[in-house]
Amino acid sequence: MKYCVECGTKLVTKYLENEGEIPYCPNCNEFRFPIFNSAVSMVVLSPKKDKILLIKQYGRDRYILVAGYINRGEAAEDAVARELKEEIGLDASEITFNKSKFFEKSNTLMNNFYCVADTEDLSGITKEVDLATWFTFEEARRNIAHGSLAEEFLLTFLDKKSH
Ligand SMILES: [Zn+2]
Repeated sequence: MKYCVECGTKLVTKYLENEGEIPYCPNCNEFRFPIFNSAVSMVVLSPKKDKILLIKQYGRDRYILVAGYINRGEAAEDAVARELKEEIGLDASEITFNKSKFFEKSNTLMNNFYCVADTEDLSGITKEVDLATWFTFEEARRNIAHGSLAEEFLLTFLDKKSH
């Protein structure tokens, strides 16, 4: 970020106690921290931890992971539980961090977790999701959208589980 988001003035840096050199707008007289979105996505495991849930969404014929944006004030782990409940109707437990990566296209830091669902029953999915399917680990590896961030997260998870 090189210009003020409010007034467009070129930013300078200024020392802020406990933070260091921070971008600063000399016109607004305010610090301008970097602005980006935060989201979560999740590798959802069946209760027996032998299957992984993949979904199709937004009319696209490709399997991805359940995902959603983090609300302001919300912990990432709480966003995982909320999104899984809202979109699929499942309760999450053992919510554990897997990997994060910045997604430039949507200016979003994507935080991936894995978690365990309370049931394999998918009768509670909402209209936001076109299709939700349980796959074995190997089927999930083959079916996840190739070249996607979801695939990268899934492969990291599978790699951890195989060691
Ligand atoms: Zn400004």
